[in-house]
Amino acid sequence: MLMRIRPKTDLRTLIALLAITSIVITLANTLYATWRVQRMVLIESTLEANRAYATKLAATTEVFFQLAQSQLHYSANQLGKDFDNPELAQQEVNRLREQTSSFNSVAVVDSNGLVKAISPESLMLKGMQLTSQASREALVQRQPMVSKPTISAANNLIVFVSWPIWSNDGRYLGYVGGTIYLKKKSILNALLGEQFYRDGTHVYVLDRNNQVLYHQNSQLIGKTVPAIVSDQARQESTNGEVQLTEQGTAKLAGYAIVPTTGWMVVALKPTDVTLQPLSGLLLKVLKNSVPFALLTLLMAVIFARLIALPLWQLARKASQMDTQGVSGEIGGIRAWYFEAAQVKRALLTGIGLVQDKIGRLKSEVQTDPMTGLLNRRGLSAVLDYFATMHQPFAVLALDIDHFKRVNDNFGHDVGDAVIKHVANTLRTSARQTDVVCRNGGEEFLMLLPATSTEEARVIAERVRTSIAENWVDHVGHITLSVGVALWDTDQNTQEQSLKQADAALYQAKNAGRNCVMIAGQDALVSSITR
Ligand code: GH3
Ligand code: MG
Ligand code: MG
Repeated sequence: MLMRIRPKTDLRTLIALLAITSIVITLANTLYATWRVQRMVLIESTLEANRAYATKLAATTEVFFQLAQSQLHYSANQLGKDFDNPELAQQEVNRLREQTSSFNSVAVVDSNGLVKAISPESLMLKGMQLTSQASREALVQRQPMVSKPTISAANNLIVFVSWPIWSNDGRYLGYVGGTIYLKKKSILNALLGEQFYRDGTHVYVLDRNNQVLYHQNSQLIGKTVPAIVSDQARQESTNGEVQLTEQGTAKLAGYAIVPTTGWMVVALKPTDVTLQPLSGLLLKVLKNSVPFALLTLLMAVIFARLIALPLWQLARKASQMDTQGVSGEIGGIRAWYFEAAQVKRALLTGIGLVQDKIGRLKSEVQTDPMTGLLNRRGLSAVLDYFATMHQPFAVLALDIDHFKRVNDNFGHDVGDAVIKHVANTLRTSARQTDVVCRNGGEEFLMLLPATSTEEARVIAERVRTSIAENWVDHVGHITLSVGVALWDTDQNTQEQSLKQADAALYQAKNAGRNCVMIAGQDALVSSITR
C-alpha cells in the first residue's frame, strides 16, 4: 500500500548530491577545456616559433651566400682586367680566403680547368687540372654558381661557390671559386652547425635532395633522409610548419628555404617536451579552483539544509496529524518559500479536517446514551475512516467477568452502575487518539491506532489491573478479560481482526478470566493476579 513506501533518501541529501555533482562536472569541464586550449596554444606557438627561427637562420644563410658571391664577383672583375698577372691572381685568392673567412680554400681557374692560383698554397694544386663535378660544371655553365654539397677527395663535405671571369672584350677567361667545408670551422658552420638544443629545440639543414648538411647527430651528415614536406609545398612557399614523427617521436617543425642554395633549414621540438608545462598548469588551475569549489560546496550544503528543513519538518509532522497540539507545532515551522508554505497550509487544513471528522464521529447519534461511549454505529464509522486512511490499529475486546452474578446478586441497576464504572475507567485509560466503544451489554472494544502488539498488551494490562484493583460500591472487586488483535491494513480485513480479538477474549475466559490474551500467541501473556 502507498503508506508503506518510505524512500530512504531525503531532499537535503538529494540537493547536496545535485550540488556536488554539478561542482565536480564543472571542475572537470574547466580542467578539460583549459587542457585543450592550452595544448592548442602551446602547439601553435611552438610551430610558429620554430618557423620563425628557421626563417631567420635561412635568411642569414642566404645573406652569407650572397656576400660570398659578391666577394667573388668583385675579384672576378679585378682578374678580368689583368688575367695573365700571376701575382694579382695569388693576391686575390689570398685576400678572399684570409680577409673574409667565408671560404676554406679559394682558386682561380682558367678556361681549360688549370689552376692559376690557389690559397692555401699548401694544397699544391697550382698548374693542375681540376676534375671535380663542380669545377667542370662551372666551366660549362660560365655563370655564378653554388654547387650541390659533395664529398671531396679528402672526405670533406664541401660546397663550391664560383663566379665567371670575363675579359673586357667579352671573352670567357675562367672562374674564381671558393670551397666551404661544411664540417670545418667557418661562419656557415657557426651559423647552422652549432644551433643545437635551445629549450629542447634542435636544428638541421637539408640540401635540395634531402641530404643532411648539418645535424646534431653527426652520423647523419651526408646521408639522405625522407623529405619532411612534399616538393610541391617546398616550391609553393619559402617557409612553413609541419607536425611529423621521427623515429617514433612526434615533433613540431618549422622550416624555411635558402633561395640561393635551395637548402632547407628545419627547427623542431618534440611534442611531449612542448606539452610538459601542461600538467603543471593544470595543477595550478586545480589549486586555484579547489578552494572556490569547496566554498561553493559548503554553501550548497547549507542551502540544501535551509531548503530541505521546512519540508522535512512538515513531512515528520504529517505522520502525526491526529495527535493533539500538532497544528501548533506545524504552525511554528518556518516555511520560507512558496512550495513549503503551500504544503504547510495544506497540512493545517488537513489537520482541521481530520480532527473535525474525529470530533464529529465521537458525538452525534453514534454515542451510547448510558455510558457516553461510541455505540456500534459509531464504531463502524470509525472503522470505515481507518480503512480509508489505511490507518492500522490494535483492537482490544473487553468483557466483564461473571457479570450475570452482579445482576443476580445486586439487581439490574447496580449492574448498570458497574457498566458505567467500567466505561469511565476505559475512557480515562484511553489516549487522545484511542477510540473506546460499548459493543453491547457488558462488552467493550478499544481501537488503538498505530499501536504495536506489545504496546497494546501494556495498555490492556493497565486497563485490566486498574479495574481489578478498584473497589466498586455495593459489589466490591470486579474483573474483566481482554483479547488483543492487530489490523495491519494489508494483512487481513477489519472483520477478521475483530474476530481474532473476540477469539483471544474467549481464550482469556477459558484461561480463568482476569487476564489478557494476544491473538495468535498461545502463551498467556499477562501475569494473573487473583
Ligand atoms: P462471563 O465471565 O463468561 O462473561 O460471564 P457472564 O456472567 O458475564 O456471562 P455473559 O457475558 O454471557 O453475561 C452477560 C449478561 O449481562 C447477560 C445480561 O443479562 C447482562 N446484561 C446485558 N446488558 C445489560 C445491561 O445493560 N444492564 C445490566 N444490568 N445487565 C445487562
Ligand atoms: Mg461477561
Ligand atoms: Mg458478555
